[in-house]
Amino acid sequence: MFSLSNVIRPHILTLTPYASARDEYSGKEGTFLDANENPYGSVISGNYNRYPDPYQAAVKEKLGEIKGVRPAQIFLGNGSDEAIDLVIRATCEPQKDNILILPPTYGMYKVCADVQNIEVKQVPLTPDFQVDTKKVLETADKHTKIIWICSPNNPSGNIIERNAILHILDNFKTGLVVVDEAYIDFATEDSFTKLLDTYPNLVVLQTFSKAWGLAALRLGMAFASDEFIKILNKIKYPYNLNGVTQKLLYAALGKENKKDKYVKQILKERKRLHKKLSELSIVKHIYPSDSNQLLVKFTDANALFHFLIEQKVITRNRSNVILCEDCIRISIGTQKENDTLLKALKKY
Ligand SMILES: *Cc1c(COP(=O)(O)O)cnc(C)c1O
Repeated sequence: MFSLSNVIRPHILTLTPYASARDEYSGKEGTFLDANENPYGSVISGNYNRYPDPYQAAVKEKLGEIKGVRPAQIFLGNGSDEAIDLVIRATCEPQKDNILILPPTYGMYKVCADVQNIEVKQVPLTPDFQVDTKKVLETADKHTKIIWICSPNNPSGNIIERNAILHILDNFKTGLVVVDEAYIDFATEDSFTKLLDTYPNLVVLQTFSKAWGLAALRLGMAFASDEFIKILNKIKYPYNLNGVTQKLLYAALGKENKKDKYVKQILKERKRLHKKLSELSIVKHIYPSDSNQLLVKFTDANALFHFLIEQKVITRNRSNVILCEDCIRISIGTQKENDTLLKALKKY
């Protein structure tokens, strides 16, 4: 049986959070003399003088409708990176607890753990970038607080088999299973957010940085049980999402159609780029992708990577990463950008 109180660090469970002025009175009408703001306005045009809603109620309501979750199941942060950091800080006691990651994967899980002196256990993915569930469950010990599953995975781009994730959710009850779905908009599989009510040990991460085209705003989402979201809210900076971002997000949430259109365009380009790349003799393998990246094995990735930089085409060299020998990760660009890449590759 999963019990959140066994997973959260004891002092976090009992911590009294900062109570902001806007916590104590959440009404919109009134004479606001509670937060030491400048009552006249801002020194630049636009009204930025009032503190924003610390719990982002308006955007969460709209987002909840889009994602099919309740607002109480949503945490919004300064990028997914904030959520990654807070999930670790809420659960892991430095020099005692550990997290388990499945390399090759997104770098921030390990960095956030390292910053806080938390051990990182690693169980590599299989050569086709799937999860060795048996090994994962054997490696997790009583101090393992989080298993991170990135699906679709970065840098390999593929979705992780649904049954593997379910198996881990069913069998790991002493900590959280975080499914990072940064690229879910590009995949055909369903999001795990649908299973939040079934699995209290599940946390799903998503982001506005990829399909939605809002990377500069720094906007990440975590979806989990109400109880765990309450913990994240308790330890976040009170005003972690600024007012401008909240306003822009509210507008963006009315434009889901445009996001879907971009996704279609990117998927079409992914297919075209895949085909064109497969015709090149320097390409040894293109890994299957359910995201907006292609991991490509070349005959000599290091040399090619530097040649591409000389041609002012910037890709991500992953050849020093486990299971990614001679691999370059290519983000799907616009048609024109992809043509520029293909032209440079032909020149090589
Ligand atoms: C890009 C990416 C993110 C997004 O991070 P943000 O901080 O929201 O920009 C999260 N997880 C993975 C696996 C990613 O590749």
